[in-house]
Amino acid sequence: MPKTQDPGETLCVLPNGTLLALAVLALVSAATAQTARPVLDSIEGHLAAGKNAAGGRDNTPDFYGLVTAICVAPLNAPARPDAPAPRMNPNRTSAYLEPKRAFDDLYWMGTPSRSTWALTTSDGIILYDTQSVYDAEEVIVGGLKKLGLDPAKVKYVIISHAHENEVGGAKLMQERYGARIVMGAGDWDLVDQSVNGFPKGKPKRDIVATDGMRITLGDRSVTLYLMPGHTPGTISGVFQVHDHSKPLTVAYSGGTEFNFVNDVPHFDTYLASERKFAATAAAAGATIILGNQSQFDGAALKLRRLADRRPGEAHPLDVGAAAVARYFKIEDECAQAVRLKLLAQQHGAPQPAQ
Ligand SMILES: [Zn+2]
Repeated sequence: MPKTQDPGETLCVLPNGTLLALAVLALVSAATAQTARPVLDSIEGHLAAGKNAAGGRDNTPDFYGLVTAICVAPLNAPARPDAPAPRMNPNRTSAYLEPKRAFDDLYWMGTPSRSTWALTTSDGIILYDTQSVYDAEEVIVGGLKKLGLDPAKVKYVIISHAHENEVGGAKLMQERYGARIVMGAGDWDLVDQSVNGFPKGKPKRDIVATDGMRITLGDRSVTLYLMPGHTPGTISGVFQVHDHSKPLTVAYSGGTEFNFVNDVPHFDTYLASERKFAATAAAAGATIILGNQSQFDGAALKLRRLADRRPGEAHPLDVGAAAVARYFKIEDECAQAVRLKLLAQQHGAPQPAQ
């Protein structure tokens, strides 16, 4: 949603529609400056705006995975704390992808769906996200070794959110290598409450993330932002990487899909977090958007293209500030669409967000 939409733009396309213009003016003045709304606040309007925000370089659409996941067929409920244990796919290793050096100081390990990132510093490694429990050993420990990195040098593991199938390596890294585990308070609770989600045991409660906390290791820091919504303890982060020595800023989005309790207050929380982090990413000058699922940031595919990069060509993950903003716009518009649907179910008619 264009939060700063200029009402004058709407009026100037209606030179002869005086009555309509007056009606629009009345609508606009009814909105407070703090919560300026698009004039057409409808489910279809938000869905169309979300889908239209998928654009891309060279007319190649991007973020379609994000659009599909949250605009076309959004999830609509959380897993129960007593959900069955994660299943082990016996063919899982066939899906493992070659780990890659993504930037001078950022490495990727993963499957087609889940990403783990390793930020190298002058005093060890900060790891970001940890796969499912059955993939962690081979993807993370095996991946780091393949990349020439020592798993014992991992000092911090940041968990962007603690869905059971996404926090599987935390215990391993904590127990075997003594890495400190950083998680939001609400997600430490999720881990505690899980009945079957940790067949190899749970990580012990360690560092509780706070808003603006800096995880500093050697010459590098990651700044964390609490972003409740996707889970109660979702955390996003901002940090710098280097592309052939050129510093670039990463916005690491902690949680994406709507697999939480689907009611209006939860969507209000999600939207407030998403808007806060969109503004944070813009203020930080982020030109790279990453997360723990290639479905959303395209990391697995884009890193395969890295080998074909020509001199002077932008890094495939360096999408630019405008694309980072579009990423958040998709989240914003499609969350608003579901929120309006929920309101319509409650009251029989859509109402604007608070
Ligand atoms: Zn998740």
